[in-house]
Amino acid sequence: MATVNSSSENQPAKHQEVGHKSLLQSDALYQYILETSVYPREPAPMKELREVTAKHPWNLMTTSADEGQFLNMLLKLINAKNTMEIGVYTGYSLLSTALALPEDGKILALDINRENYEIGLPIIEKAGVAHKIDFREGPALPLLDQMIEDEKFHGSFDFIFVDADKDNYLNYHKRLIDLVKVGGVIGYDNTLWNGSLVAPADAPLRKYVRYYRDFVLELNKALAVDPRVEICQLPVGDGITLCRRIS
Ligand code: SAM
Ligand code: CA
Repeated sequence: MATVNSSSENQPAKHQEVGHKSLLQSDALYQYILETSVYPREPAPMKELREVTAKHPWNLMTTSADEGQFLNMLLKLINAKNTMEIGVYTGYSLLSTALALPEDGKILALDINRENYEIGLPIIEKAGVAHKIDFREGPALPLLDQMIEDEKFHGSFDFIFVDADKDNYLNYHKRLIDLVKVGGVIGYDNTLWNGSLVAPADAPLRKYVRYYRDFVLELNKALAVDPRVEICQLPVGDGITLCRRIS
């Protein structure tokens, strides 16, 4: 996983280091997955970006290597071509997406912070996939509203990965359900929110975990009864809920 830097790759990481990236109860088993099936297959640019990101102070935000591998596989399985990502940070999930798409594939990448994207950009360029990315700096919601007003964007996305401000996920869902095509997939990330969803009310939680927990709980409740999508909540990384639009 991304917070384990290269020098400690062969050492089982302490649970608190990997806890938010893996909900597996056994750190050794998670390390086994990384070392056996993920790191040996990780494309060189993704490894480089993971190692560069590990040195950044906000590295907890990055997508884990096993989730990056999962996204890459999923995009190929569904033959995704036109995609969107909300929440880019340094670009690990973006790069895993870009590498999975065909040469003429597209990713509309939205983030309020361009500076962090620019950390990963030289690596993305070197990997030869930057031409697939249309990065827009700014809050995602107003841009989604603009797109909703234009019929041409309706039903136009094969895949949308949402990994940004958790308190807006339901607002995103209201719009994205029109922008993703029928049969397309929206992936909401961090839907198991550090395991905190089932923590007792008085459990000691970090402030931001406690703050966003109610929003994640609301999202999960809403997705579970949304008749417009089929869902599958996977305990990969910090939990990802795949929503396949059916109507
Ligand atoms: N997917 C990224 C990766 O693989 O490294 C991690 C994304 S990080 C968890 C969340 C990102 O969401 C941050 O880069 C933050 O700047 C961005 N963000 C927060 N609020 C946002 C908003 N309203 N609109 C767009 N991006 C936002
Ligand atoms: Ca995430």
